[in-house]
Amino acid sequence: MTDHALVLFSGGQDSATCLAWALERFPQVETIGFDYGQRHRVELEVRAAFRDRVAGENPRWAPRLGPDHLLTLDALREVSDTALTRETEITMQANGLPSTFVPGRNLLFLTFAAALAYRRGLRHLVAGMCETDYSGYPDCRDDTLKALQVAINLGMDRRFVLHTPLMWRDKKATWELAERLGGAPLVEAIRTETHSCYLGDRSTLHPWGFGCGACPACELRRRGWEAYAPPHA
Ligand code: ZN
Repeated sequence: MTDHALVLFSGGQDSATCLAWALERFPQVETIGFDYGQRHRVELEVRAAFRDRVAGENPRWAPRLGPDHLLTLDALREVSDTALTRETEITMQANGLPSTFVPGRNLLFLTFAAALAYRRGLRHLVAGMCETDYSGYPDCRDDTLKALQVAINLGMDRRFVLHTPLMWRDKKATWELAERLGGAPLVEAIRTETHSCYLGDRSTLHPWGFGCGACPACELRRRGWEAYAPPHA
């Protein structure tokens, strides 16, 4: 196993920040994305542009950025009947979770990522889950991910290290981390090249990025940006 890393890179703000974090730390960084029929499939299309830009603007990072992998998880679409994969309204459910919740999604993503990392001899898995400023998804919890690291290491007989650099950061702190890692150019790349909107809307560029401006993902992204860069500052 090498000290190389695999970043779960969806094309969103959090995983883009994690990609920069990994490029700063590891000698070689590969990325993986998942196509599971998500409505905001456009997030998959922005991935290549962001990878190119982050490498192009930082001569130290460029040689570290390795190949990208895109896995199709049709089975996940078959078992998830949620607002993330269906044309239905995004609402809050009785259990306090938004209707975008896909049960166990991150458990599957990380398990597939580990299987790929196993095959490619990569030790470090980097993912953008966050317990601080999130929508209540139980598969983003720190304890869930620590348990999953143990399960994967036992089940694959390897010593993977699962990194979640955003776990205790809110969205404002995530922007601050991006600024620390790559300065204003990285902040601008994340603002304009990444995608968070659940509806896949990229028709309008708001101060905080592209999106419909109304769904829970846009709302979270707008609030975080305004905390980081107040509108009247
Ligand atoms: Zn939206």
